[in-house]
Parts: sequence; structure tokens; C-alpha cells
Amino acid sequence: MNAEIISVGTEIVLGDILNTHSQFLSRELAGMGINVYYHTAVGDNDRRFTGMLENALNRSDIVFLTGGLGPTTDDITKETACQLMGLECHYDEAIGERIRSYFARSGRRMSENNKKQAMVPQGAVVLQNDWGTAPGFILEKEGKTVVLLPGPPRELQPMFLQRVKPYLEQKTNGIIFSKNVRVFGIGESLLEEEIVDLVTSGNPTVALYAKTGEVLIRVTAKAPNQQQAEELVDGMIGQLRERLGNTVYGIDVAGLNEALVAELKRQKKTVATAESCTGGMIAEQITDVPGSSEVFEMGTVTYANRIKRDLLGVSEQTLQTVGAVSRECALEMARGLAQKSGADFNVAVTGIAGPSGGTPEKPVGTVYIAVEHGGKVWCHHYYFARNQKERDYNRTQACLNAMNM
Ligand code: ATP
Ligand code: MG
Repeated sequence: MNAEIISVGTEIVLGDILNTHSQFLSRELAGMGINVYYHTAVGDNDRRFTGMLENALNRSDIVFLTGGLGPTTDDITKETACQLMGLECHYDEAIGERIRSYFARSGRRMSENNKKQAMVPQGAVVLQNDWGTAPGFILEKEGKTVVLLPGPPRELQPMFLQRVKPYLEQKTNGIIFSKNVRVFGIGESLLEEEIVDLVTSGNPTVALYAKTGEVLIRVTAKAPNQQQAEELVDGMIGQLRERLGNTVYGIDVAGLNEALVAELKRQKKTVATAESCTGGMIAEQITDVPGSSEVFEMGTVTYANRIKRDLLGVSEQTLQTVGAVSRECALEMARGLAQKSGADFNVAVTGIAGPSGGTPEKPVGTVYIAVEHGGKVWCHHYYFARNQKERDYNRTQACLNAMNM
């Protein structure tokens, strides 16, 4: 089954708003194993819109139309689609009543043109809108499916997930279930090499998505019921784990920070940070996770050498001889932090974020990350050479690798 998305709205083609529906719907559809072949956008003009829809109906099995279901005269999606597909519309009392009470609840009166939203195309499946006024519709004709969804994202997204997705699953005679496997510390192409035979297998499907510094693997299975689909997905995740070992850091988690906080909670352990080149990014990432107060003790941004010395006890000799960006300094920072914080894990980062400040011995992108735990301390040396000029890249990499350690 293949699909395409037509977003209707002059604001989109004028560049006033970004078309986020195409991204949202494509991701969701890809997760369901439905291929999306085209994204288009058109203004509120019935002639141009008709041309596009005609084209779409010739080449795609499912056409998504987003926006233009509102009450005003520039909202033309439903009317134009029905005209093209030769479908009459009739006024639906029950929907009219829903809209009237929606307005009454917010102390407003329903206007005459709101009635437009209660017009239902003949034979349509009505998608009740619990997040706004305009219902959505699914039209089926001559083997083609047209799905109409309202423009506001806070209406479109739940309507897709709660109304359209189950409909499509039923239509394809089975349920579609997926999990996201998060991987850190292995590049996308190397990872693909490791699992190439799994990536090309049919059901479940395995798809790779590169994200900043990490890779997301989406495993999707189609099966007659939830239990069978979950078994297929979990079976594949087991194989992936075998191949990828501890580069897999979580299943269905939002990121390294969430996985880290969850793991610390599980172990009932706490963490503290002393950051130089990351300037507080690690602390920010950890405290971004709800409930992090259970595991996060303190974060310091120890930028100046004097502070590294006075606050963390880094020796003058280290600062004078090997300098602040060194293994010795990172180790001393972590030890000094441990004394101050009393946390179970103490993380220290020092490096050269760039774009300037590098030397041949210590080029931009050189970072030392040390961790103290139970009196032991160890340090990793990183060199993020991809793009020396990219301060943001170097800092982000340092932050992610610190959380990974
Ligand atoms: P309404 O009843 O609010 O008029 P509608 O179904 O007629 O809804 P539009 O008028 O096309 O939808 O769009 C309403 C709002 O939804 C827009 O102002 C915009 O903020 C948002 N929106 C519409 N289309 C998109 C899109 N493709 N991507 C992101 N946001 C969108
Ligand atoms: Mg509108």
C-alpha cells in the first residue's frame, strides 16, 4: 500500500508556517509499513487543489488531505474533494449538536458558517474530533482511500493516532506494532554492516535512522494480533542485542539522558557533574528528565583554571605542566568533585570545543571525560575530529559520551 500527503493552506505555501504534518504523518505511516511517495502543499484555491488531488488519486492508494476543514470560506478541502469524487454532502444533526455544545461549553455562540463543519460526505466514515470542532473523514471510492484531517496539529495528531491508525490496521487485516531500539557509540554505516541481513528481512522490518551522534533502529511487525506482533518485535530485538552488545542503551526511551536517569534510579545511585567545555549541558540533560531529583546531586561549571584548583582541588602542577585539557586534570576534577558532592558517580569533562584554541598536540575536539565511582577513577580520551570548527558538535558529543560512560 502506498500513500501521499497533500497539505492545504495558503499559509504553508507562503512560508508563514512550517508543514509539520507531512513529517508527523510520514513517520507514523513508515512505522506502519505504509510507503509514502509524495508530499505536496497547495494554497486554498479549488482549481489548483482539484488538479493535485486528481493526480494523487491516479497514483496513490491512500491520499491524506490536511487542513482546510474549518468554517470559513477559504476552507475548501472537503467541498472540493467531494466535488471531484462525485460525492454529495448532507447535514448531520448529531455532529451539528456536538459543535453547538462545544461552543456552549466555552461560552460562545455557534455561527451560521460553523454548520459547514457538520456536512458529511455520502458514505464517509466520520472521525470524531474530541480536540476541536471540525470532524475528519475517510472516503472510500473505487479502491482509493482519502483521509481528511483538520489543520491544527493538536487536533490532527491525536485524530490520526486514535482514529485513523486503527482504521488502517483493520483495513490491512492485522495490527502493526513497533519499538525503537536506541544505539550509541557505533556509526550508522558500521552498524548497518553488522546487521545487514536483518535489515533486509521482511516481517518484522528493521529501519535505521541516524540522529545526532547516535542511531535509532525501528523494528516493526505486522501480525493478526498484538501478542504475536510483540513476539515478532521482541524476537528481532533479541537478535539485535546479540549483534550490537552494549551499544544498545535502551528500548523506547527518548534519549541517553532518560536511559541514564532510569538506570541510576534502578540502581538507587546518584550522580554529580563538574563540567568545563560542556558548560552545564550534562546537568541540563539530566535535569530535563522528570524525577531526576532522585538521582542528581549537583552540577558545577568549573571553567576557569583558578576554580578547577580552588573548588575541585586540581593541583597547580597539573595546570602548569600538562594543562587543564588533560587526562590528569579530568581525573583530579572527578576526585575533587567526589569529595564535595558525596554522589555515587562523579563525572568531569574538560576539552577544547573550538573553533579556536587548538594546538597540534591538542587539536580542537580533544576532550577528556573522567568518572569517579567508589574511590576508583577512570578517564576516556576523545577526539571529535569530524568538524573542528563545529563548537556545537564537539560540545554535544562530549555531553552524550559523558552520559554514555
Ligand atoms: P480551523 O478550523 O482551525 O480553521 P482547518 O482544518 O481549517 O482548521 P487550517 O485553517 O488549514 O485548518 O489550519 C489551521 C491552523 O493549523 C493553521 O493556522 C496552522 O497553525 C495549523 N496548520 C495547518 N496546516 C498545517 C501544517 N501542514 N503543518 C503545521 N501546521 C498546520
Ligand atoms: Mg481553517
